[in-house]
Amino acid sequence: MGSLRAFAGGTTSHGMHQLLRGAPRERRVFPAGVFLYEADDRRVLFDTGYAEHPWRTGAAGWAYRRLLPPDVPPGATVAEQLDPATVTHVVLSHLHPDHVGGLRSFPHATLVVTEAVHRAMQRPRVREGVLRGLLPTAARPGPVHVVPRSAFRPGPLGLDTADLFDDGSYLLVDLPGHADGHLGALVEDRVLVAGDAAWGRDLLGQEHRIRAVPRAVAHDADAQARTARTLLDAERAGVRLAFSHDAHPTGVDLLAPRPHHLGGP
Ligand SMILES: [Zn+2]
Repeated sequence: MGSLRAFAGGTTSHGMHQLLRGAPRERRVFPAGVFLYEADDRRVLFDTGYAEHPWRTGAAGWAYRRLLPPDVPPGATVAEQLDPATVTHVVLSHLHPDHVGGLRSFPHATLVVTEAVHRAMQRPRVREGVLRGLLPTAARPGPVHVVPRSAFRPGPLGLDTADLFDDGSYLLVDLPGHADGHLGALVEDRVLVAGDAAWGRDLLGQEHRIRAVPRAVAHDADAQARTARTLLDAERAGVRLAFSHDAHPTGVDLLAPRPHHLGGP
């Protein structure tokens, strides 16, 4: 049995009323969540948070930072919160800046991406929210494990999964909608790291309220709503959902039973 710990690789903030119809005029802080699974000799990082400044991403990076201003004070990058040399695998949910920013700190880890995400790495497109300057170069020394579409099979809880280590401990989960090839991870059948399937747990199932602009940013808004229903079912079945942009306690094993939450998630 392993452990799963959350980190915030910086934060951003956004007006809730700009995101959702009927939401209060308040800014919410969204951590750029990163999840470290440790079991035996494996240390698997899910996403990498924001990059420290400067980004060197040109006008597109400037526009992104106007919309979602990243806050990455000294010590806030993921690489400063753990020993990057010990990380064996980096799983990327998708390529948005708040998920790939720290990638360069893990040049030797095996990079795990879906076929669609790998394609987007080869041909980064600003309109898909991908900034070339944040991605690793072709000369990256570490191996890349591209998970083909055919590796995903109907798995538990109505999810399409691919077993990363062939031992059931870490299932990659197809969570379509937010970005092409968007990925989650079901860890030890207990915690589903759900990336950007929703902006936060309280916003899951609220997809019909998302305003036109953030809706247009989604790769496939209908698929996103279907994914949300599947996740809500999984939660009802007892799985704990962990979204990238919720605030998670650091230094707590998310796989451990939660004594204050007896009776379900
Ligand atoms: Zn995203």
